[in-house]
Amino acid sequence: MEFKNITVIGAGTMGNGIAQVFATAGYAVTLSDIKEDILNRAVATINTNLDRMVKKEIISEVDKSKTLNHISVSTDLQSAVSNADLVIEAATEKLDLKLSIFKSVDAFAPKHCILATNTSSISLTQIAAVTTRPDKVIGMHFMNPVPVMKLVEVIRGYNTSQEVTDAVFDLSKILGKVPVEVNDYPGFVANRILMPMINESIYTLFEGVAGVEEIDTVMKLGMAHPMGPLQLADFIGLDVCLAILNILYDGFGNPKYAPCPLLVNMVNAGKLGKKSGEGFYIYEPGSKDLKVSSKFQ
Ligand code: NAD
Repeated sequence: MEFKNITVIGAGTMGNGIAQVFATAGYAVTLSDIKEDILNRAVATINTNLDRMVKKEIISEVDKSKTLNHISVSTDLQSAVSNADLVIEAATEKLDLKLSIFKSVDAFAPKHCILATNTSSISLTQIAAVTTRPDKVIGMHFMNPVPVMKLVEVIRGYNTSQEVTDAVFDLSKILGKVPVEVNDYPGFVANRILMPMINESIYTLFEGVAGVEEIDTVMKLGMAHPMGPLQLADFIGLDVCLAILNILYDGFGNPKYAPCPLLVNMVNAGKLGKKSGEGFYIYEPGSKDLKVSSKFQ
């Protein structure tokens, strides 16, 4: 299987990073989203990330412009996927949305094209079932931030073929990543283990056991985690965390996965973490200081 043209659907936190790593590796990338201003913002973010890499002498100015030249953008899904060898969907973590995107992509993409999703928790087998090519549907679960994190959790749906799995493994290695194969059950491996920890840390705050900084400090200094769980939740996006917990809760029917009411309230209030400017912490543009939200002081 040969990959030349890669289409990334969804230009948010993850879509940006995925587009960047493929473009850096020399693939022709089309980044697609529903609105032009989202795509402009995504390209600006990639530009800033590449500038940082130039400053740190990880890449040269020439590498930066080559990478940017490999990226084109489109709000038209049909034209975005019509020439793709691989589509990676990184749109919002909502089942109905993903099913509808996969139905359309299956109709518009060439027959040989592999359809991958970056979903954190939604069933690959369920997504594959709305396409005419379930053998070519696979999970490529990149971690955030994509240019930095090495892991790609490769999720096999019930019908994903060995050939497609092998091709995605090889491709992940070309990107400088480390692929790990897992089977299709709610939350896969990464989020089945991570989300209960994040949820428990939110319960610990909710029940007044300790404050935001105290909880994060215990986990950083006590367990050698590079980032505390509440800061990590902000970084992932509280809406994304809630969506994943709901999938775990529904998928296993086990109350241990029930999302903490504080998390539900924060998402309803639009406090989504870093991307909305506030979660457990406050994120001011240009400031690197981490300040606890006034709600938790
Ligand atoms: P995000 O909210 O930052 O971005 C989602 C993007 O999808 C938005 O730009 C939105 O406009 C776009 N979108 C919505 N409907 C669309 C459509 N019909 N067509 C094209 N684009 C559409 O979300 P994110 O954090 O980048 O998450 C994307 C996916 O990656 C989710 O499945 C999530 O579970 C997964 N994921 C997230 C993280 C993380 O740390 N945030 C890590 C791993 C995987």
